[in-house]
Amino acid sequence: MSGESGYLPQHKGFATAAIHAFQEPEQWESLAVVTPMVSSTTFKQYGPANFKKYEYGRSGNPSREVLEKCLATLDNGKYGLCWSSGLGATTGVASLFTAGDHIICGDDVYGGTNRLFRQVCSKFGLEITFVNEKEIEKNIKPNTKLIWIESLTNPTLKVMDIKATAELAHKHNVLLAVDSTFVTPYFQHPLDFGADLVIHSITKYINGHSDVIMGATITNNKEIYDKLKFLQNSMGIIPAPFDCYQVTRSLKTLALRMQQHMKNSIQVAKFLEKHPKVARVVHPGLPSHPQHDIFKRQSSGCSGIMSFYLKNATLEQSRTFLSALKIFTLAESLGGYESLAELPSVMTHASVPEDQRKVLKITDDLIRLSVGLEDIEDLISDLQQALEKI
Ligand SMILES: *Cc1c(COP(=O)(O)O)cnc(C)c1O
Repeated sequence: MSGESGYLPQHKGFATAAIHAFQEPEQWESLAVVTPMVSSTTFKQYGPANFKKYEYGRSGNPSREVLEKCLATLDNGKYGLCWSSGLGATTGVASLFTAGDHIICGDDVYGGTNRLFRQVCSKFGLEITFVNEKEIEKNIKPNTKLIWIESLTNPTLKVMDIKATAELAHKHNVLLAVDSTFVTPYFQHPLDFGADLVIHSITKYINGHSDVIMGATITNNKEIYDKLKFLQNSMGIIPAPFDCYQVTRSLKTLALRMQQHMKNSIQVAKFLEKHPKVARVVHPGLPSHPQHDIFKRQSSGCSGIMSFYLKNATLEQSRTFLSALKIFTLAESLGGYESLAELPSVMTHASVPEDQRKVLKITDDLIRLSVGLEDIEDLISDLQQALEKI
């Protein structure tokens, strides 16, 4: 079903595809220009087991199918599937494997991914090893089936070389999955660099309005797609039709939003780089980022996610700074139109063991920002006044 007709070559431009791909009004009898939200859980059959296209809302839904096909197109992929959350997508991918299989995972992936692999998948007999990007190859074993990386990690914004990792994976007959949530299909297509699977937390930039939790998987591999489609239905990890409608709507402005997130975050980064109370700014779009070259090679731009270290700040001073912000909201998550700030060591990454946090440099003076779409002057003056309170 979803994705069967694959990539639509007439939608070459990203914004055009986001607005039109698989959304032709002619597919609906009403000629509705906006993809309808179909909430029906069941569909009438012509005769027993003789149905037009859909039979039951878990196995297929028109609003979901449009979104899945459009998302696949935006990622230069053939087959897309939507899941009830980003972690739901990860659960589906992990369920491709059986007890005794081995997964290699980046050591600083999203905390929820770490928790799912470590505390849930391990119960079902999957063996997981968390490694630094330099140690992937030497951890590959005969039972290794999957390498899982994030194209841009969090909150230290390490850039992974997708092409090199894909070559290494395929040399050993292992699949590569790339969580591309932070970079988005607007700036990067991991499938073009050899990844077998792309995972998105749609909750973040793709929806971008902080009002839907959803995930997606995109692949060009028909066999993987068929297996995932089976799992999506069998495990019941599906998003609601209304949420699919909301995300399809959000896609219409994804290109515009990403351009503005990038502009704003680079200006914020440049402001912070010059500020005397800031020790170091981490932003993949700046030449000062240690892997800026790899980033430029595989991404056409950067989102609004960035981090910085306050100069010699204690936990108390970091708290003072964050509490003084007025436009940036002190909250977890990222990727919405609103600017957010947080302290990873006690918020998003508190569950990472302290010694591991030290290795990853997630210290009490590290602030993470999700730079939103507000006016840049307001964002900078907000940061300025909060820095003065330290
Ligand atoms: C948020 C996030 C997830 C999990 O997505 P949910 O939609 O919250 O389940 C996975 N990976 C990354 C990089 C994320 O930021």
